[in-house]
Amino acid sequence: VRKAALGPHATAIETLEKVFGYNSFRGQQAEIIQTVIDGGDALVLMPTGGGKSLCYQIPALVRAGTGVVISPLIALMQDQVDALSAVGARAAFLNSTQDSAERSRVERAFLAGELDMLYLAPERLRVSSTADLLDAGHISLFAIDEAHCVSQWGHDFRPDYLQLSMLHERWPTIPRIALTATATDVTHKEIASKLQLGDAKHFVSSFDRPNIQYRIEPKLQPLQQLLTLLRTEHPGDAGIVYCLSRASVEKTADFLVENGITALPYHAGLDARVRAANQSRFLREEGVVMVATIAFGMGIDKPDVRFVAHLDLPKSVEGYYQETGRAGRDGLPSTAWLAYGLQDVVQQRRMIQQSEGDDAFRRRLSANLDAMLALCETIECRRMQLLAYFGETSTPCGNCDTCLTPPESIDGTIPAQKLLSTVVRLHRERNQRFGAGHLVDILMGKTTPRTTQHKHDQLATWGIGQDLSEQEWRGVVRQLLAQGLLAVNSDGYGTLIVTEASASVLNGSRPVRLRREPERAAKAARKSKV
Ligand code: ADP
Ligand code: ZN
Repeated sequence: VRKAALGPHATAIETLEKVFGYNSFRGQQAEIIQTVIDGGDALVLMPTGGGKSLCYQIPALVRAGTGVVISPLIALMQDQVDALSAVGARAAFLNSTQDSAERSRVERAFLAGELDMLYLAPERLRVSSTADLLDAGHISLFAIDEAHCVSQWGHDFRPDYLQLSMLHERWPTIPRIALTATATDVTHKEIASKLQLGDAKHFVSSFDRPNIQYRIEPKLQPLQQLLTLLRTEHPGDAGIVYCLSRASVEKTADFLVENGITALPYHAGLDARVRAANQSRFLREEGVVMVATIAFGMGIDKPDVRFVAHLDLPKSVEGYYQETGRAGRDGLPSTAWLAYGLQDVVQQRRMIQQSEGDDAFRRRLSANLDAMLALCETIECRRMQLLAYFGETSTPCGNCDTCLTPPESIDGTIPAQKLLSTVVRLHRERNQRFGAGHLVDILMGKTTPRTTQHKHDQLATWGIGQDLSEQEWRGVVRQLLAQGLLAVNSDGYGTLIVTEASASVLNGSRPVRLRREPERAAKAARKSKV
């Protein structure tokens, strides 16, 4: 009942101080909040931890009526409502987890004007009784949280978000504020158009997270590499380890537990109660490592996550940025670490080929992957490249792996030619399926049952690659794949094929630049071979 205590003419800054106990606004908060208090629409792009919640909570407290907050994060609604109640704001939610008695209690409170904020799952708006309910009450504003869920191209797409344009159609005079931590230009435009935010003021914050150190390493023995990271740099720290599949989540969590680390699994295949229990331990206990698929993390407000590790390549820079952004919300030094290898590229290219959807959809996925690969293979500052992806220009940060131990760019034309001509020769053997490992065996002149069976020791390129190590050859394959000079066949076996662009490399008209791992990583590579 703070709203009453605040009086009818409380200002934004009074509300910030008296309700939330802070003394100044951060970044663009003041401007955003004033826009909404004055009845205007706002579209807010702000990184994770930037302070988006206050941007709608304060206007909801200052304006007369109830602020309706649309959020996909059903599992977190109770926490959000509890947090607001703790500071004396009157909040409630409506979602599918409630029984009808609870629902009617909330509905009555809303109709009686006793709520400052009402959290609503988007699917609630599918039923017409919800719209009727909203009509019968007094709404101060609509907040659309995680607004990027409206993007059909994004990884968090929620079909129910598409119908949120109805908010504007049905209640044209009520101000709306849409918020997201996703920052690409494409998503930005898509949110504006799909949610009919044509007249909204846009607030785009810098997406730099200076306290996060970005590091991307070649994937050699990923579990060992992860363990080394945790033991040497993050003993006892809370963190998140992302894996692509449920199976690898389980395997990784088991491995960490066997090695004395408090690790818990989280993926959609686990029982809902186990998931909830693990999430709550992660939030409440200290030093818990959550091993999870990307099903985990959106909306998780844990300030002291000290590291986010990826054992598999994210599908897009946007996804990578969102996931790594969960580290260091408290502003203290944190690590974003990714191990990335040849198999990641092969697997993801294959997944794109086999994905449902039309050509345009697959092209979009490919473009997302290419941008992610460019970030992995860059010899420039990671942060600069990351921010450039979001349209921000910056200078080398001095705090990422490429700034701290710069990799070299070397002329890789001859290795590329050796590799590509082997691929061309193998391609002549129709219906045969040879993956990257076999290619490298041929270049190294390493006899295996398969090289003998197919008489590959007779190929002109047999053993011509002994000047590089096996690891280095895998790096060449990976980088040619990343540069589009090699492709993965659609046979589903990961067979490598040449592309149109390969011809110019083979005939010598196009030089190839390759990234050479700096000494630190090269040492690790040598060790792992022992
Ligand atoms: P986001 O939703 O953008 O990820 P939150 O709204 O959860 O970020 O805010 C992140 C943290 O910063 C929260 O703990 C919040 O209380 C705090 N915070 C937000 N705005 C301010 C402010 N003006 N002054 C101090 N702390 C703030
Ligand atoms: Zn840097």
